[in-house]
Amino acid sequence: METVLNKVFSSRDNLISAVKSFYLLQGYVIVIKRSKPGKVYFGCDLGGEYRNFLNLTDETRKRQTRSRLLGCKFLLHGVYRVKDNSWHLNEIELSHNHPPSTELNGHSICRRLKTDEIETVVSLSECGVGVSQILNVIKKEFNNELSSRQEIHNALAAARLKMLNGLSPIQKLLELLHEGSYKFSYEVYHNGAIKSLFFSHLKSIELSN
Ligand SMILES: [Zn+2]
Repeated sequence: METVLNKVFSSRDNLISAVKSFYLLQGYVIVIKRSKPGKVYFGCDLGGEYRNFLNLTDETRKRQTRSRLLGCKFLLHGVYRVKDNSWHLNEIELSHNHPPSTELNGHSICRRLKTDEIETVVSLSECGVGVSQILNVIKKEFNNELSSRQEIHNALAAARLKMLNGLSPIQKLLELLHEGSYKFSYEVYHNGAIKSLFFSHLKSIELSN
């Protein structure tokens, strides 16, 4: 297989995708550990050590963490070169302390949903479809055998955060009410907490009259 190591890349993005796909084909998932202007630090997704923040014993740990970090020291630096406006790689540590994966579904990066899958998940959920059924659709429509209920939950949580845009759910509700289509009134305590809230869609009022 042709190596990426001696190649010169025209952009940071080209370098990143070449490194990731080169190693993925060999059974290793390479992730960006750190990045700053002119530099990208690649590591193995099994790098890093499990840190015992909670003082768990081996038994409780097994139950409470699904962490599978192996402390793999693989490290590769992508560096920008001003001279010819290009990117190249510096090898720091190319060996892994574990064999390549034969099945990649243990790697969270492979289970993550793609943009068009996320759009489908969100619109199905808006129509009231449950997580298990959404997962079935994703498996069938996108031939996705790797993602699980967890990825569906993650995508929905991210979509919710994006929709709220930093507001609390009640703030978002008030914002929507102020945008029109609703008749509403509410009272607020001194500390900003909601005391009472009434709202009804204008159409509902019209229909009830
Ligand atoms: Zn590794």
